[in-house]
Amino acid sequence: MINCLMCGACCIAYDISTLDKPAGVPCEYLLESGRCGDYDRRPAVCAAFKADELCIMLSMLPLSERVRVIREVYRCS
Ligand code: SF4
Ligand code: SF4
Repeated sequence: MINCLMCGACCIAYDISTLDKPAGVPCEYLLESGRCGDYDRRPAVCAAFKADELCIMLSMLPLSERVRVIREVYRCS
């Protein structure tokens, strides 16, 4: 299992329809720390999301670059 680094990139990169959040836009609940500001009530899709190898590979990059690569690799539009 890969531990989440709590970088917040996935909370920007993906579109989350239950939150009406388009891809590439920070979730309204995302804190500056990279943590979720509504963790206990986050949507099921967020609760089920798992960190993967890409999270580790991108960990040294700035947040904007992480988001860009995630969107490119997983074709988030
Ligand atoms: S991009 Fe990966 S490491 Fe960063 S918050 Fe999301 S799951 Fe965690
Ligand atoms: S609800 Fe929380 S976990 Fe889900 S995208 Fe927003 S900040 Fe991230």
